[in-house]
Amino acid sequence: MSKNQMKKTKKTIIAQNECANWDCGNCIGCTLEIDKKYLKRNSWAPVFQTIISKKVNKPCTVEKGCNYFENLITER
Ligand code: SF4
Repeated sequence: MSKNQMKKTKKTIIAQNECANWDCGNCIGCTLEIDKKYLKRNSWAPVFQTIISKKVNKPCTVEKGCNYFENLITER
């Protein structure tokens, strides 16, 4: 399915409007990681920004499942 044919479900519309990785239907592939145990122990934690190479410039996978979407966009 091309990005022009992408089905516009509620999740896809939210990803399009709110996901920082959204790029015309493709994913930039950037993610953030925080060690929650470290955060709980120290009341602060470094945030690591990484690139998931298998997602870079590939169509958005929000309908099949996306950890970034579930953890950082819908968990507010
Ligand atoms: S796959 Fe996930 S991180 Fe990438 S654009 Fe879609 S919702 Fe955002």
